[in-house]
Amino acid sequence: MTYGKLIRISLLITLLILALSIFFIAGNHGWIEKNYANGFYPGLSRFLRILFGWIPFSLGDILYSIVSVSVLWQLGKFVVRLFHKTDSWRKKLTPLLTAGIILLFVYVYFYLFWGLNYYRQGIEQQLGLKNGKFDKQQLIDLNNYLLLQMNSRKEICLQKKDTTMNNDRMFQSALQGYQTLEKQFPFLRYKHASLKPSMFGEIGNYVGFQGYYNPFTGEGQVNTAIPNFLQPYVVCHEMAHQIGYASESEANFVGFLSATHSNDTLMQYSSYLDMFLYAWGNLRAVDSTAAKQFGDQLHPGVKRDLVAYRKFVTDHRTFLSDWTDKLYDYYLKQNRQRKGIESYGEVTGWVLAYHHKYGLK
Ligand SMILES: [Zn+2]
Repeated sequence: MTYGKLIRISLLITLLILALSIFFIAGNHGWIEKNYANGFYPGLSRFLRILFGWIPFSLGDILYSIVSVSVLWQLGKFVVRLFHKTDSWRKKLTPLLTAGIILLFVYVYFYLFWGLNYYRQGIEQQLGLKNGKFDKQQLIDLNNYLLLQMNSRKEICLQKKDTTMNNDRMFQSALQGYQTLEKQFPFLRYKHASLKPSMFGEIGNYVGFQGYYNPFTGEGQVNTAIPNFLQPYVVCHEMAHQIGYASESEANFVGFLSATHSNDTLMQYSSYLDMFLYAWGNLRAVDSTAAKQFGDQLHPGVKRDLVAYRKFVTDHRTFLSDWTDKLYDYYLKQNRQRKGIESYGEVTGWVLAYHHKYGLK
């Protein structure tokens, strides 16, 4: 056996053992909450943010590109060798094995360095909240509350002629929101920022992502090519992923709490707008007449933003975004988020439960 082959087989066996261990650990949510989400992960993520946060561009995006090109290269090599009659089957299959090892490595790294947070107990256990059923009246009350907050923030911003945020202000305001929130809930502490615009912004618009967390480098990525009024809330959402909330509804909820604790009115507006859209959608599903009445009460400035948002979505809707939506939906369902893409909307349940227990800011 050659030296290279020995390394490849040892790597494959190690990765398979780690993948199996991840599979078995994932079932023990209490253990993960205690030892991973509140043990290993916070230190690791802080270390990654310190290590890569100062780099002005996204290292993670470059890594993603290298890995994608490497896998495609190996697959291309496999296809070419398939047509080489003189090549042995062993030689034909080697690129496929290499691609498999790269993908298995990505899988193991992803779950060990972040993805196990999908299997923690999270907000339910930490805040003692139950994301259960809610009735129509509760939804109407929440819509009313969010509408008032959103409309008033829009009015203030328009009066101050403050309608867009640059990246530095957005990241600073988000950080300040988390620092204020930490005083009430120390476990939501966020230190050592690592927030960057995504290199794939325009592509992202067609694929349909607004932001993402990169577990390989600890960087929080924001798609700065989406409408500006959406971006501040996306930053807070990605920061929630960075501190270990993998579930989308929980990241939405923690992002909402932090953004509304920020002193920046534009940041607050962005989060109230997003949350209102979730709660409004929930209400429309049970009572379209009541939902329409809320639509009539929107501030004209909010209406303009919603028209711009709708146009943005329509302009970028392609077969590619339909396809990636399905793939992402499947991915979320495989990671303990029963409702897939719709699980983002479960944030309404968290906000209502929080409202009931603590009152809203
Ligand atoms: Zn997310």
